[in-house]
Amino acid sequence: MLRIGCHLSSAKGYLAMGREAVGIGANTFQFFTRNPRGGKAKELDLADVGEYLAFAGEHGLAQILAHAPYTLNACSKDEGLRQFAYETMCDDLSRLSHIPGSMYNFHPGSHVGQGAEVGISYIADMLNRINEQEFSTVILLETMAGKGSEVGRNFEELRAVIDKVEDDERLGVCLDTCHVFDGGYDIVGDLDGVLDEFDRVIGLERLKAVHINDSKNPLGSHKDRHEKIGEGQIGLNAFAEIVTHPRLTNLPFYLETPNDLDGYQGEIELLREMASRQQR
Ligand code: FE
Ligand code: FE
Ligand code: ZN
Repeated sequence: MLRIGCHLSSAKGYLAMGREAVGIGANTFQFFTRNPRGGKAKELDLADVGEYLAFAGEHGLAQILAHAPYTLNACSKDEGLRQFAYETMCDDLSRLSHIPGSMYNFHPGSHVGQGAEVGISYIADMLNRINEQEFSTVILLETMAGKGSEVGRNFEELRAVIDKVEDDERLGVCLDTCHVFDGGYDIVGDLDGVLDEFDRVIGLERLKAVHINDSKNPLGSHKDRHEKIGEGQIGLNAFAEIVTHPRLTNLPFYLETPNDLDGYQGEIELLREMASRQQR
């Protein structure tokens, strides 16, 4: 069965997210660990976590994906901001240790004029420091659209980060369909070719999750504007291929499309329909 869910608001806690996910036919979900603009996270409510874990067990919710605030910049020029990214991620990861099997996705960062090589080193430095804490959660680098000076604009940049991380055992990649399309990878015309390229450069065994978003903009536009499934430049046929591709179909898929809960429910139904049509 397709593992699919969407991004949910974490404001009301884990049990509320679990109920919301099940209510729209999802069997996984993504959430921000704190306000995406940064700032302090609420005290972790262990009773809520316990209730959520029981609920998740009963309803077959598995392996949820936490998303770091996108304002963190592990490769900022400013040492204070790099330290802030490190501390925030450590705090998130220590909370996530209460949710077995969860994964933690983050945007590698923006090098803002220092050059990708410097950015890559700072990001790897942070991951090496994080690894010293021996957190159990798998950390995912997200493929980026290449807006501005974003690091992770191609598979080679993510590979370069991974190469500099000493213990890369719990390090993976989350592929965002909108971002890679924006980055110039033609998942519409040549999905197999893009996956071969991913495999050659990074290794498909590193791919742990997919953000499934359409894109408002054409191939290679580096804009990062998500669109509803089938309403953008990627289009329905490509999504049917993506959710049924033998190299992808067992991964968890997360919608980050511009939708309310009803809209997400519809997209989850649509993608499940596509996946099951293929299987028959
Ligand atoms: Fe993201
Ligand atoms: Fe994403
Ligand atoms: Zn995006």
